Amino acid sequence: MGSADRLVSAASPGLTVRQRIAELLRSTELTAHEISKQASVAEREVAEHLRHLEHTLLQAGERLRVLAPHCVKCGFVFGDREKHGRPSRCPKCKSERLSKARFTIVPA
Ligand SMILES: [Zn+2]
Repeated sequence: MGSADRLVSAASPGLTVRQRIAELLRSTELTAHEISKQASVAEREVAEHLRHLEHTLLQAGERLRVLAPHCVKCGFVFGDREKHGRPSRCPKCKSERLSKARFTIVPA
């Protein structure tokens, strides 16, 4: 576990950031923005936490599932290549109206 795991929240004392994120994602699907608000972490740190969480989950028999962002205009679905990044426009129709990727935890 890294140093960031020592950070705890007043809302859920005793739980590390990643434990709190895991708790949230076991019950619902959230965007990086929603995770940052609900787990009290900076949005730019969410992807890093998720990357580490993904390894921990695999050992526990769970899996981080990424619900890919899609283009609101034409329905183009972004693939695995972009899964942790933040696409800014649709490669197909060039629209910038994209849904956000959402994350959830499912049994492996
Ligand atoms: Zn499009």
